[in-house]
Amino acid sequence: MYKLMTPGPTSVSKNVLEARAKSFRNPDVDEKFVEEYKKLCLKISELLGTKNETFILGGEGILGLEVACASLIERGDKVLVIENGIFGKGFADFVEMYGGEVTLYSDDYKSDIDVEKLKTYLKANHDFKIATVVHGDTPSGVLNNVDEITKALKQYDILTIVDSVSTLFGDKVSLDNIDILCGGSQKVISAPPGLTLNIVSDKAKEVINNRKTSIASFYANLKVFFNYYEEKWFPYTMPISDINGLAVAIENIANENSSNENSSNENHELSNKMDTYARHQMIASATRNALTAAGLKLYLNKGYANTVTAFEVPSGITAKAIIDTVRDDFDIQITGSFGVFAGKLIRIGHMGNNANKADMEALMDALDKTFEKLGVKLAKSLKENFNKEF
Ligand SMILES: *Cc1c(COP(=O)(O)O)cnc(C)c1O
Repeated sequence: MYKLMTPGPTSVSKNVLEARAKSFRNPDVDEKFVEEYKKLCLKISELLGTKNETFILGGEGILGLEVACASLIERGDKVLVIENGIFGKGFADFVEMYGGEVTLYSDDYKSDIDVEKLKTYLKANHDFKIATVVHGDTPSGVLNNVDEITKALKQYDILTIVDSVSTLFGDKVSLDNIDILCGGSQKVISAPPGLTLNIVSDKAKEVINNRKTSIASFYANLKVFFNYYEEKWFPYTMPISDINGLAVAIENIANENSSNENSSNENHELSNKMDTYARHQMIASATRNALTAAGLKLYLNKGYANTVTAFEVPSGITAKAIIDTVRDDFDIQITGSFGVFAGKLIRIGHMGNNANKADMEALMDALDKTFEKLGVKLAKSLKENFNKEF
């Protein structure tokens, strides 16, 4: 089986796989499950430094984005869609699907959103109920300063939906001004795809509870979860094995981020010295420096996420040739990009368990040899320059 170095799904630790393989309770009738679910939700909120309530829903990351839109938006609501990438722009489809009126605010795809420019725009245009924005837009690897962006939006009492699916626990985010934050199991958290997280403010709950119209979905609906704990009841059978796996994946992160010197995540040789954020930062910076030193061109001018790096396909060869050679000759799966970036970019997912020195070094070595095989002369060895950083 090849090594997974894609920007999601990421590689999954043995202890997570084992937790998913165990026999399980009936989550519909066993109240212990409700307690375990609640405990895990509290743990996630605590690790993110927020009192906002976490809900874990059965469904891939995209479900979380749709749930947030379906639950907050009523027909005719004005929604500002702030975008500088494919996922950012994609929010417009969900907004329209649930009757919202989209105003698209677009910025340069090659860098993070210019917060000062956005603030100037908001001064003149702030008649919005809701705004959407992406923390890390994975197809280009851009990281937006959502702390500042959501702070600016809150000055006008605009509700904020943030997609942090590809960055949660890899790049730090403050939940202080976020009404619904969306995350997924299969990126930094390093559990298999299948679960989505919605982390919800009291304000968002109040707005949802006071809707004039009912939510036009049962499955993409946060309201049906609000009283699960009091009622000991979930709107549908919860995917308990997925949740058991998630609990162990979150425990791995908690251990790594705990200040206890003896605790470390056995999956990362770097982690006894740092938390998940510092580990991602170090691996990402070494990756960017190695690519640049080798003469490859990063797609972005600035605003780099620490969970994924995109570089341009050198002229004369194709993205497919690079990806296929790395997989067929070296058993490592990386990926290209899609939409407007299709065929132009190669992406390395150094997120979650992928963000470790040994696997990244193996990938850098594979890329050195792949470029040589494809007739592309690099200015310097990727592997050597990657290692210089440690
Ligand atoms: C992965 C990801 C999602 C979830 O979508 P899939 O394409 O179905 O994996 C949502 N938003 C962002 C930014 C992502 O990276």
